[in-house]
Amino acid sequence: MLEKGTSYFSVRDPEHAESDLDRFRESGLNAVLHTFSERDREYYADTMEKIVAASHDRDFTVYVNPWAVGRVFGGEAFSEFIGRNLDSCQVLSTGDRVAAACFNDPTFREYVRGWTADAAAIGADVLFWDEPHWYIPEWFDDEVPEGAWTCRCETCQSLYEERYGERMPATQTDRIDEFREESLLSFLDEMMALAAENGCENAVCLLPSEDADHGLSDWERLAASDHLDVLVTDPYWDVFDEESPEFVSYFTDTVVSLADEYDLESQIWIQGFRLDDDSDTIDDVRAATRAAIDGGVDSVFMWGYDACRSISDIACDDPDAVWNAYLDELPS
Ligand SMILES: [Zn+2]
Repeated sequence: MLEKGTSYFSVRDPEHAESDLDRFRESGLNAVLHTFSERDREYYADTMEKIVAASHDRDFTVYVNPWAVGRVFGGEAFSEFIGRNLDSCQVLSTGDRVAAACFNDPTFREYVRGWTADAAAIGADVLFWDEPHWYIPEWFDDEVPEGAWTCRCETCQSLYEERYGERMPATQTDRIDEFREESLLSFLDEMMALAAENGCENAVCLLPSEDADHGLSDWERLAASDHLDVLVTDPYWDVFDEESPEFVSYFTDTVVSLADEYDLESQIWIQGFRLDDDSDTIDDVRAATRAAIDGGVDSVFMWGYDACRSISDIACDDPDAVWNAYLDELPS
């Protein structure tokens, strides 16, 4: 059976959350992703446990993600970790630190191990490792000199030297790209193994760019991971200035074929944020949803519920129309 879901965030009153969950259930959804930010973990852990339990009461499969944790996962949330642990942040090839944690930093790994245990403890079925990426300079054009890359922190430099027997260069070579990918995979493998020990499945959502600058160039290495259960991508056509449904179809084929080969589930996310009210928008949402389903995906989700109506910075111009178009295209 097709899994049909949405992400859910911001509401932390279980009574209000329950009425939203009822509404999702009535709309035919059977899965929900609850964001679990650093703030949620610190101040709302018991509340989140109640919201997850309310989701299970309604037979939802529950995904939980590290929303913007360390600023190396996707999400509209702040990170206290990077403020408290400046030495654990990534260092640019120019020597400047940036506001994002380093995947190789032992303190950050310890922190995310704690997050993983807590996410399992609130009752998650699946931990959703959302858009893990090294700092992406092009997203911060004004701040970073051309050609700068991360990470040249002390930990990364010594790991690189151990691995290759040479000092880490300041220019971005193929070996640097390989080191970055291996570091990211090693981080994910460690956290996924821990999640599995804690009784959770693992989903990894890669940004829809098959290159090392946005995550991984070789998705097959992730697909082959012992602890991966769901291979995911989020081909948000409008964000990447691409066409729906072609962009969605391409990445649906990618995750479906790798999932078949490695005995995984496949999942595609439909853009439900930052869409303007052009005449094409609703057709694009419908076509994207159909492309994912017709492409044979096991699971389809929208980011996020009500087309992000409650987050003014990323809300769609006509959120109700976008949300309803998505729901309407889902098979009953
Ligand atoms: Zn580093």
